[in-house]
Amino acid sequence: MLPVPEAIRRVERESPRLAAEEVSLRDARGRVLAADVVADTDLPPFDRALMDGYAVHAADTHDAPANLRVVGEAAAGRGWRGRVGAGEAVRIMTGAPLPTGADAVEQVEQTRETEDGARVLVERACEPGQFISRRATEVTRGETILRAGERVTPAMLAALASFGYARVRVARRPRVAVLATGSELVRVEETPGADSLRDSNTYSLAAYAGAAGADAEALPFAADDEGLLRELIAEAADRSDALVLSGGVSMGVYDFTKSALRALGAEIFFERVSLRPGKPTVFARLANARGTLVFGLPGNPVSVSVTFNLFARTALLAMQGATETRLAEHRAVLARDAKGSVERASYLPATVSTDDAGRLLAEPLKWQGSSDFVAFTRATALVVVPEGARRIEAGEVVTVLRLPE
Ligand code: AMP
Ligand code: MG
Repeated sequence: MLPVPEAIRRVERESPRLAAEEVSLRDARGRVLAADVVADTDLPPFDRALMDGYAVHAADTHDAPANLRVVGEAAAGRGWRGRVGAGEAVRIMTGAPLPTGADAVEQVEQTRETEDGARVLVERACEPGQFISRRATEVTRGETILRAGERVTPAMLAALASFGYARVRVARRPRVAVLATGSELVRVEETPGADSLRDSNTYSLAAYAGAAGADAEALPFAADDEGLLRELIAEAADRSDALVLSGGVSMGVYDFTKSALRALGAEIFFERVSLRPGKPTVFARLANARGTLVFGLPGNPVSVSVTFNLFARTALLAMQGATETRLAEHRAVLARDAKGSVERASYLPATVSTDDAGRLLAEPLKWQGSSDFVAFTRATALVVVPEGARRIEAGEVVTVLRLPE
């Protein structure tokens, strides 16, 4: 059985890079940058006041209080063009450019202006440079501020906007088709009969794919029928960079995903991973012109979530050239015993928190086993119990992987 880390590396290796495209800044969130982002201006672009108050010569205030002549006013968007001479001050607002000659700003709370606005009393001595943010102290023009491979966050949108990136070069979104399989499935609008249950994987998988930056299409689920599966896979593959199937990968008489893939001439990279839950996960590439990747995930909804996030998510991010293609990894103290297995590594749903000493704590969920997807809704991480460890005791340090939000 393939160890999980090797399976992940295989997925990364087989995931082709998608072309880049330009999108408007408004649509850039969550997309992966296809080029470095370079500052086209200094930041701040000029020496800037950090307070409402007065721009002064610090030297004039050494023997404070200092009585200064108010010679002008500088506001954000409307600087004062003159030169501040000795014994002079300029009324200044936060964000305004510092007038030439001045070397300090005193906040308005420490001053008193005369009724006629002609003079101001500065009550205490100013340090040169106080309440001034100097030009280019944050960013210098020409500096690389974001790198290709980073995923655009809301904070990055602000940085992109301030450097004039009305359009942003990003990787094209992978097109993903989601296909749940199983003759027991009924639609969410229906009431399941004695032998059936509502399809839930279609919804979680399409959402996970979207969260990984894909353009996800949810196909109507299909019955366990090899011919039908073959048709649906071949048809969806022609417009998809990846297919994510759920169900039908176990050893049952009605598990047809692998035989359908083989009949279509797919190259199967792996079909058994040392993973609990998720052992029968299949990763393959179809023989079509697009070389569509296929993930055949076990149908159990918890397995679906675990295996999607370990493997399919990685592929979708790798296709976009993302630097971070794997779930974020931390070390945490176990808050409760975790049960492992002799022949497979376990990736157990857990919540994480910090204790009073600031240590990360991981608490595996109390649940009724790997089909308990209602309990799984609380999971924010997976605790890794290595293959061969029957049990890890509370208090021991383990690896945890953060699930995406
Ligand atoms: P399978 O991998 O096809 O053997 O499916 C394993 C189990 O997962 C099934 O017995 C169902 O209980 C459940 N299951 C499969 N597909 C879905 C689905 N689309 N939505 C919810 N549960 C599913
Ligand atoms: Mg099935």
